[in-house]
Amino acid sequence: MSQLIARLLLAMMLVPTSVAFFLLLVLALVAMRGQPGWFHVFAVWIPVSAFVICYWLWIWKPVVRWSKSRIVLTVVAWVLAAAVSAGFGVMLGRFMREVFPPACAAGALTQLLWVLATIVIWRETNAERAERVRSVGAATVACPACGYNLTGLRETRCPECGASFPLEDLIAAQADRLGSIEQ
Ligand SMILES: [Zn+2]
Repeated sequence: MSQLIARLLLAMMLVPTSVAFFLLLVLALVAMRGQPGWFHVFAVWIPVSAFVICYWLWIWKPVVRWSKSRIVLTVVAWVLAAAVSAGFGVMLGRFMREVFPPACAAGALTQLLWVLATIVIWRETNAERAERVRSVGAATVACPACGYNLTGLRETRCPECGASFPLEDLIAAQADRLGSIEQ
């Protein structure tokens, strides 16, 4: 649980750290080249995007189940987020008759859309959860009468309540127990 809290805290730090990184790069660019145009913002957003992707993956990679479709969807989500944001930036640029603010907004929108998409894409499905519970639960055996953990015992008689069961009843009871954990 404390690991999850650490992850959530790190996740909340994504926005301030990436904004700080972006501002730092833009300020450096302005100091070197004067008024930044859209191309400069674009150049700055490449390392910022890379930072956001690496940071977000660093937090969640260990807990996400990386199926092939999930990896593909993650990449597709980034491309779509970038395309939608670019379109939004161009429209905003025509409306505002300025280049710098829309370029910044489009860059920020790319990161935001992608992160939101990963929250959906990386979520564990019900089938995956059931499989995980099954794989964890299958390592234990519980008494069908009182629920006492019989794992490691050499007989089918429960030391807690004294009930004894034929092996097939014990196995059937485990299947029922795991079925109820799933729901
Ligand atoms: Zn028992």
